[in-house]
Amino acid sequence: MFFVHSARPVLASGENLITNPDLEITDNTGLPQDWIKGRWGTNTTVFEYPVLGVNSSKAARVSISSYSSGDAKWKFADLAVTPGHEYQFSDFYTSDISSYITIQFKKSDGTFSYKDIGHPGPARDFQKFTATFIVPANTETLSIFHLLNAVGTLTTDEFELKDITALPPPPPDSNNLISNPSFEYSNGAGTSPVKWSKGNWGSNTSTFIFPISGYQSSNAAEIQMNAYSSGDAKWYFDEVPVNPGEAYSFSDFYKSNTKTYITVRFKQTDGTFKFLDIGTVEASTDWQTFSNTFTVAANTVSLTIFHLLKNNGTLAVDAYSLKKIESDPSKFSTGMVSIHFDDGWRSAYENAVPILNAQGFKSTNFIVSGRLNPNYPGYIQSPELLALQAQGHEIGAHTRTHPDLTTLSTSQMQNEIVGSRNDLTDIGITPVNFFAYPYGAYNTQTKSVVQNAGFSAARSSDGGYNLKTQDLSALRRQSMTSNTTFAQAKNYIDTAMNDKTWVILLFHEVNYTGNQYSVSPELFQEIVDYLASKDITPVTLGQGVALMQ
Ligand SMILES: [Zn+2]
Repeated sequence: MFFVHSARPVLASGENLITNPDLEITDNTGLPQDWIKGRWGTNTTVFEYPVLGVNSSKAARVSISSYSSGDAKWKFADLAVTPGHEYQFSDFYTSDISSYITIQFKKSDGTFSYKDIGHPGPARDFQKFTATFIVPANTETLSIFHLLNAVGTLTTDEFELKDITALPPPPPDSNNLISNPSFEYSNGAGTSPVKWSKGNWGSNTSTFIFPISGYQSSNAAEIQMNAYSSGDAKWYFDEVPVNPGEAYSFSDFYKSNTKTYITVRFKQTDGTFKFLDIGTVEASTDWQTFSNTFTVAANTVSLTIFHLLKNNGTLAVDAYSLKKIESDPSKFSTGMVSIHFDDGWRSAYENAVPILNAQGFKSTNFIVSGRLNPNYPGYIQSPELLALQAQGHEIGAHTRTHPDLTTLSTSQMQNEIVGSRNDLTDIGITPVNFFAYPYGAYNTQTKSVVQNAGFSAARSSDGGYNLKTQDLSALRRQSMTSNTTFAQAKNYIDTAMNDKTWVILLFHEVNYTGNQYSVSPELFQEIVDYLASKDITPVTLGQGVALMQ
């Protein structure tokens, strides 16, 4: 036999097994429903019901005025129990003498055994008695007697019997960054959870309560708020160190009778705080879970999260979890979009580049250097190319004459690849770090020549999205042609952003010819407007390559 504090960290599995435990229900004979008068031996005993209770109008009393043997008690009807399980019993009582608490176990063969679990002294005001015990083998049912066996008076109320057999503990979650996330550890007095703080400001009356019965555990924490006119109140966990840009998932369990709010508090390097609202949840009488993900704000050193009350009402919280979302190493920290123009079409320079410039967006332009002369009026010329560079757009090489490189000898390849680079640097384009294969055609040999020429990356015409691990000599693209719709372009962008990959949108002509590799200025404008509306700033090839592995 031993006595327990209410904060003992057991995993309570049970509801109160006693029916009519507070004796509030009276049956049609005027007795408390499911309760029985018990007496034996030589004594003069009076049973009284109802008398005033602990927190209620009804309790039961037994008074012995003369005594030589036996005992007297109110007892609850036998309850089925499970041998080997641990139970917790409690009640409230007042008495002018010492009383006894004894369990009567009924065995499967119909016999009884008894176990004394307490001998509390007199109590003028209602006192709580609590004990735990394990049900012996072969027991089918039990009752518990809070009894008198001497001259005196005993009043009892608010009985409770629960199966507290420890459930298998949840596997320790080493990824949860919150200390004491389920409030199971309290200070020595059992009155406050370790690693948690109470927060309250504004004009309101807030009461912090600990412990209360938890979600799948013995302890949780509660706040009650009255007289609210401003501010809020919350329990919050000790600061967790984090780094800007990291992604986290947060969850907790709650019960409340009013709307409540979840806010991340980021502690900044200068000691000030930034706040991010991540949720609002409606009242729930049963334990409910809330979860959301968020990204750590710039200049943050640590964070905590408030599940807060800012209305009159009650909020219980439990089972917090904060986990870092480990990123896929092949994914970028954010999705990326690039805009490429191939060949140096004048229509792109005249119709599309001004749309980009209006947004401050930069493009990457792969130039066929042999067309930088007046014999090719459909293409921009050197002064315009230099102006494009001066506006911050990126220039790459795309051979001298736009051949299919895979059909050439090595020396012809070198002439086209190295030669185009020299042509561009000769007119003042610098740096020329990137190359695009005409028709997207490449093989091992062309890749090798491009690499040896000192280009740090090359773009193919293979369709798709780039991961961090994509071959730098064969970056993928999505081709924008006369058949491309805005919905298709939007899908390319959304896919890259959602999947944290990098999509290169490849344009050629931007005009109304309807040529196969032409898109309309309207469609181009629509795509740029969409990027701007999503706060997506296109990256140049250099910016994208710098983020690859
Ligand atoms: Zn081309």
